Amino acid sequence: MFADLHLHTNFSDGTFSPEEVARRAKGLGFSAISLTDHDTVDGCPRMHTACSDLGIEFISGCEFTVERDGCELHMLGYNLDIENLRLLRVLRKYQEIRRNRIHEMVIRLKDHGIPLKIGRVMELANCDAPGRPHVGRALVEGGYCRNMDEAFQRYLKKGKPGWAPKEIMTASVAIDLIHDAGGVAVMAHPGINRMDDVISELTSQGMDGLECFYTRHSTAVREHYLIMCKQLGLLVTGGSDCHGENKGRPLIGGVKLPYEYVRKIKTAAKVA
Ligand code: AMP
Ligand code: ZN
Ligand code: FE
Ligand code: FE
Repeated sequence: MFADLHLHTNFSDGTFSPEEVARRAKGLGFSAISLTDHDTVDGCPRMHTACSDLGIEFISGCEFTVERDGCELHMLGYNLDIENLRLLRVLRKYQEIRRNRIHEMVIRLKDHGIPLKIGRVMELANCDAPGRPHVGRALVEGGYCRNMDEAFQRYLKKGKPGWAPKEIMTASVAIDLIHDAGGVAVMAHPGINRMDDVISELTSQGMDGLECFYTRHSTAVREHYLIMCKQLGLLVTGGSDCHGENKGRPLIGGVKLPYEYVRKIKTAAKVA
């Protein structure tokens, strides 16, 4: 038995619907999946229903963009009460910040001689939590870039002409918010963030786990974080971070988290 606890849908910057992700997970033999869209839990009810229909376990989730010492990192929340009012209020706030940021990015690109239409970008996003990949899709569609990689490299990466800053919550606020909604807080893709120095500090502030199993973690990196989890008494999680088609090959199926870790996450969430 195995799980994928890091998946995106078209409720944020993924391209598959919740039903499509659940169907693919079932086809690949997963016993449990979680939906971790950026700054929203709105896709969870539909994925929950789809999973129930298919006979696989669903774990609610969300990927929060957070800040620590001025650096951005991602915090995953699992087993959240998706009707928690504080959680929903905060998520609505950050969704609005995301929408405003898209407007700002379109203005910056226009000043740079790239006249994207805001209506078209929002149409491509078609969700409450739009992100840079939606601007990237508009850049590709408009013929300004050949693909998403080029869109990020030339226009969307931090410091590039289309990039705009966005207000984000601190990591400790996110941890507190996740706990308040009954969930567990897990640092996403620590091997990509490369912020090992803050892990023990965040653990003392209540962070519950590390995403050790991850598409872009080598075996050595995974082992490194598994050891850290053991030393710090942290939960182990893992997932593919599938956003839909990825150069013709969706990432789902590439990471198989042994189910024993899911059991531990559920036990921890109940006592949190
Ligand atoms: P945002 O949350 O709006 O700042 O956008 C960040 C998201 O962009 C990440 O979660 C990834 O899904 C996506 N992303 C980052 N870098 C790239 C890239 N080089 N190509 C495609 N997508 C990317
Ligand atoms: Zn994303
Ligand atoms: Fe992430
Ligand atoms: Fe993600």
